Amino acid sequence: MAYTEDRGAWFEGQGLWQHIPSEQWQDWTWQLKNRITTLDQLDAIMTLTPEERRGVAFAGQKLSLAITPYYFNLIDRHDPNCPIRKQVIPREGETLLSAEEQLDSLGEDEHSPVPGLVHRYPDRVLFLVTDRCAAYCRYCTRSRLVSNAQDYNFHPEYEQGLRYIESHPEIRDVLLSGGDPLLLSDKKLEHLLSRLRAIKHVEFIRIGSRIPVFLPQRITPALCEIFKKHGPIWMSIHVNHPKEATAELRDACDRLSFAGVPLGNQSVLLKGVNDDAEVMKALVHRLLRMRVRPYYLYQMDLITGGSHFKVDVRKGIEIIKSLRGHTTGYAVPQYVIDAPGGGGKVPVNLDYIESITDEEVVFHNYEGRTFRYAQTSTPVKALNAAVPAIAPAPPSQA
Ligand code: SF4
Repeated sequence: MAYTEDRGAWFEGQGLWQHIPSEQWQDWTWQLKNRITTLDQLDAIMTLTPEERRGVAFAGQKLSLAITPYYFNLIDRHDPNCPIRKQVIPREGETLLSAEEQLDSLGEDEHSPVPGLVHRYPDRVLFLVTDRCAAYCRYCTRSRLVSNAQDYNFHPEYEQGLRYIESHPEIRDVLLSGGDPLLLSDKKLEHLLSRLRAIKHVEFIRIGSRIPVFLPQRITPALCEIFKKHGPIWMSIHVNHPKEATAELRDACDRLSFAGVPLGNQSVLLKGVNDDAEVMKALVHRLLRMRVRPYYLYQMDLITGGSHFKVDVRKGIEIIKSLRGHTTGYAVPQYVIDAPGGGGKVPVNLDYIESITDEEVVFHNYEGRTFRYAQTSTPVKALNAAVPAIAPAPPSQA
């Protein structure tokens, strides 16, 4: 598939929902109320494969099925291999458990001093403020708790979380996540952000959200005003494929940017979705055109029932290699593995360095050409011979 670089030609419109008045279509609460959540609803608008039917039947025990009408329009209903379809329509692979997989693959629960708060790094916390999302990604790292299909019974305790942050002066960075924080009402978000802003030692507030991708209608002027008021609020959105970069997402990102929200993107490397150099290049170029900096490319976490999405790390390295030096540096995300069990994010870097000694660094560039960088300084000539004489300073009057 070719991806046009013309921002004005990206997908837009109401697709299957042409009959809905545009005010309703633009209303994020209408989008939520009219999500596709059942097998019957899917059967009415597309033909599922047997593998998908079995996946949908199992979803209620693992991670609920939900797709906003807006996002459903991006699915190619005639192509079982559609990269958008794979992200939100369950497949049989979710029922399979591999020995390496875990429910809480990043060991978040054991670093949780109060419900909904993960304090793993000394100076920052992850504040999980809801278990709900606008749509559910079939590879979700937090599928143990998100949507409550596994009876995790997650009940975020804002007050306890806020008090914990208040009483820990070492916390300078708070990441709001979930679930999706932007599903909270404006009133709740305003409350949370104003409480966090009032904590003197909290310097940096960020939000991780896939709402701009699943439900760009939620990025209302009123919400942007809240971000402006309590800014700077940084935001990581989550776009995996260039087809997700629609006119609506572009406009939502514009609204956020104009409200002073710096935007980054976190993609997950997913088999059959974006494990392809051309697809990834089109994605990062589209992101830059929306003022979104590609930030992380994640190797998929080892979550239960996720092996059908797993990509060989060597493929990920190859994709990054195809970008580094071949396109704008801003467009190249950092490829990372979140260490299983809770070791934090570890960069997977390309091996450009051939050797390092006290004398020199030998390395090659993106074309494979070898270069040397001298670490020593051996003066061969004084450069100051040509410096004109400087008049002495006048005597001090003091
Ligand atoms: S939006 Fe985020 S939290 Fe929600 S299902 Fe997708 S990956 Fe999980």
